[in-house]
Amino acid sequence: MPQVPDLPLDGLYGEKIMDHYRNPRNREQVPDPSLEAEEFNPFCGDRIILQLRLDGQGKVSLVSAVSEGCSIIQATASMMGEALRGKTLPELEDLSRRFHSMMRDNRSADEAAEPMGDLEALQVVRRYPVRIKCALLPWVALEEGIKRFRSPTS
Ligand code: ZN
Repeated sequence: MPQVPDLPLDGLYGEKIMDHYRNPRNREQVPDPSLEAEEFNPFCGDRIILQLRLDGQGKVSLVSAVSEGCSIIQATASMMGEALRGKTLPELEDLSRRFHSMMRDNRSADEAAEPMGDLEALQVVRRYPVRIKCALLPWVALEEGIKRFRSPTS
């Protein structure tokens, strides 16, 4: 049974968010991941477990983004997982930076000219400032995973 969304999400962007929320992608565990991270936000019970496998060229070949909590984190985790495949770590960091700019509504003209696919839909979450954190949590996990991958001892 699909749950009722906890935000009024309408229009094209809202439909995209609901599609990812109802049919989340990349929920299969990645065996022997190159990097992984878990983040939790007690405010709305959001949790994300991110696992990535890198191929010999340092590009993301397998993605697992398993989330629970509100509709926003679940849709974001699904959309982000789709966007990561085939990218190198510096490209992931660039994507994360651009996503943060979009959510703060201060994208440069260059950034706005290079759309981010389904992730663009999440700009509607800016209407609910308290929920922006939900859309950022998967990116916190991504950045934490990259940091630990580069300095495993710290
Ligand atoms: Zn949330």
